[in-house]
Parts: sequence; structure tokens; C-alpha cells
Amino acid sequence: MSKQAVTVIGLGPMGSAMVRAYLAQGHPVTVWNRTASRADELVAEGAVRAASAGAAVAANELVVLSLTDYEAMYAILEPVSDSLSGRVIVNLTSDTPEKARAAAKWAARHGAEHLTGGVLTPPSGIGNPEFSTLYSGPRKTFEAHRDTLEVLTATDYRGEDAGLAALYYQLNMDVFRTSMLACLHAFTVAEAHGIKATDLLPYVKNAAALDQFLDFYAPRLDAGEHPGDVDRLAMGVASVDHIVHTTKDAGIDAALPEAVLEIFRRGVAAGHGADSFTSLAGTLRGARK
Ligand code: NDP
Repeated sequence: MSKQAVTVIGLGPMGSAMVRAYLAQGHPVTVWNRTASRADELVAEGAVRAASAGAAVAANELVVLSLTDYEAMYAILEPVSDSLSGRVIVNLTSDTPEKARAAAKWAARHGAEHLTGGVLTPPSGIGNPEFSTLYSGPRKTFEAHRDTLEVLTATDYRGEDAGLAALYYQLNMDVFRTSMLACLHAFTVAEAHGIKATDLLPYVKNAAALDQFLDFYAPRLDAGEHPGDVDRLAMGVASVDHIVHTTKDAGIDAALPEAVLEIFRRGVAAGHGADSFTSLAGTLRGARK
């Protein structure tokens, strides 16, 4: 059986990896990119270059977007919106849930369907089913194209709401970006003491392995219970204060632990000194819970 033909618009590192994954599995691929030269190698490898964005959209029912943000999508597709009718836009561009919902409505106004995607791997993981991509939007459309989408990665369908895949993606990034910066912070303080990153590595990995803490605290968060039987917020303030001073003593920027300290202190000021640090969920909500 012949493989579904696909259009890919956006040939940064991610879009290029997607084109190669499709070509490797025998899918005909039409490509377009604002900077045309970025398509050259892919065309040499078997992709078909569309003469314009409109021609790329017209070429195939399934149009995969891999762009910097949703503004780029409008910049490319708004001028050729006449060609969108009957197309399925698989938007693997990351942006906010609200923008994803607005894009789904915008696509519908032009007779197209919109599947929101959130790719949970760097380009090196594209083509590998051990990695996955979040999807949301019309279930029927997702199911109809599932096999073709699974050429890129495994799929994780989150629901009909166009914003859901973007939301789960941003929550994933929330943890990833802040955790990675915390790790970089520790490496930087270590370096100020003459300790190499590769020597600190096992200790950072150990501290970043949070599974048992998350398993313990998640049910308590759902139950809204924050007893200070295992950890007390007042103890947390003292602990983070030590981190701030250790950082400053090393001559390193302490903005990150100071931000953490400020949130912990607000929780104590709100009367949660004897509760668990999870009581800070109320502080983050701005509610006194
Ligand atoms: P890049 O930002 O490197 O490339 C994005 C593409 O967007 C380029 O083809 C660029 O065109 C195009 N573009 C940007 N602005 C415009 C515009 N105004 N008009 C037309 N085209 C535009 O991104 P990546 O390839 O790295 O990633 C693509 C998406 O995948 C992003 O949303 C990213 O968040 C997500 N992602 C990326 C990961 C990664 O590790 N790279 C991991 C997980 C998700 P041009 O070549 O002309 O500049």
C-alpha cells in the first residue's frame, strides 16, 4: 500500500528531522521554508520543493507545521488561506494553549482542521517510537492520521480541546526549564569551588531524581492535605536561606534561590510555617489554603 503523502512547512532542526523520518519510511514529502536554501539538502534526499507556501498546502491533505511560534504560522498561511479548505493542519509548533485554541478556530473558519501537537523530544528522537508527541483536537481526525503521525514518534492523544496538547507541553517545559536551570546553578557554584561538572554529575543526578517525592506528594496535593509530618515550611525557609548564602559566598548570582526563598517566606507569612512545603500551592494560587 502506498504511503500517505505529507507536506512539511518549517525546516528548522525539528522540521528537517521530520522530513527525513518520512522519507526514510517511504512517504512522499513536499516541503516549503521561508528561507528556501534550507530545503536544498532535503530535496537532494528526495523531498519535493513547493514553489510557494500556497503550493505546499495545495499539494497534500496533511500539512505538518514545525515553526518557531504560532505568529510564524499566520505569517505563512494567512496570505494563502484560500488553499486551506479540506486540509488537516498538524501544528507541531509549540506555543500557549490559548493560541492553540485560537488557531483551531481560525483553521475552521478556513475549512481546515487543526491538530495541536507538542513534541517531547529533541530532533535526534524523531523517528524513534520510544519518544512521544502530545496531540489534541478532533479525535476522528487524529485517528484517521495516527499511523502517519506515528512515523515521527509515538502519539499521546490528550483530548478534543485544541489547547490540551499545548498545555501538557508547557507543563512539561515548566518542569524541564526550571529544573535544568537549577542543575546549571549547582554546577556553577561547584565550579567556583574548583569542582568539575563531570565530578558533580552523580550528585546532581541523585538530587534531580525526584520520583519518590512526587509519588508521595501528588496524592496529598489532590486531597488538599499539607501536614508538616515529613517536612515543615519553616525548615524549608532555613534550608533555602543556606543555599542563597552558599551561592553568594561563591560569588555566584543568587537570583534563582532568592526567588525560591521569597515564595517560601510568603507561605510562612501566610501562616503555613508548620505545614508541608506543598502548602505553597495555595501561595502560588494566591489563595490562603
Ligand atoms: P526553529 O526556530 O529553528 O525553526 C523554525 C522554523 O520556523 C524555521 O523554518 C523558520 O524559517 C520558521 N519561521 C520562524 N519565524 C517565521 C516567520 N515569521 N515566517 C516564516 N517562517 C518562520 O525551530 P525548531 O526547528 O528547533 O523547532 C520547531 C518547533 O518545534 C518549535 O516550536 C519548537 O519549540 C519545537 N520543539 C523543538 C525542539 C528542539 O529541540 N529543536 C524540541 C521540542 C519541540 P527560516 O528558516 O526562514 O528562519
